[in-house]
Amino acid sequence: MNDNDCLFCRIVAGEIPAETVHVTERTVAFRDINAQAPLHVLVVPKDHYADAAALAAGDPAASAELVTTAAAVAAAEGYDDYRLVLNTGAGAGQTVFHTHLHVLAGRPLTWPPG
Ligand code: AMP
Ligand code: ZN
Repeated sequence: MNDNDCLFCRIVAGEIPAETVHVTERTVAFRDINAQAPLHVLVVPKDHYADAAALAAGDPAASAELVTTAAAVAAAEGYDDYRLVLNTGAGAGQTVFHTHLHVLAGRPLTWPPG
């Protein structure tokens, strides 16, 4: 499954450049273009799913791999503590409708988030 109009499908396909930091069988991890922390990476499934729930329902293995990839990225960059975020729906701040797991680390991360 793929969508020519989807920004992250196009990054996965190599049609739009991104600073890729990790690739697995089912995922690609690349740096967020507008980093909100010293480490801010997005982990996306290679296949197109609009949000995290759709991915979990459609490809549970890829859903799990988002998290293991995120952990690998944080470890590789030397962070024990990090935050994972899945904005789901426009009202929750989702702007790109290809699911992506934000990996944030390297500064104090307060709670609750904004
Ligand atoms: P969200 O608001 O949760 O949908 O997150 C979308 C994220 O994608 C934002 O943090 C953007 O900064 C990021 N983003 C948008 N375009 C690009 C791009 N071309 N390369 C990397 N990150 C991007
Ligand atoms: Zn897509």
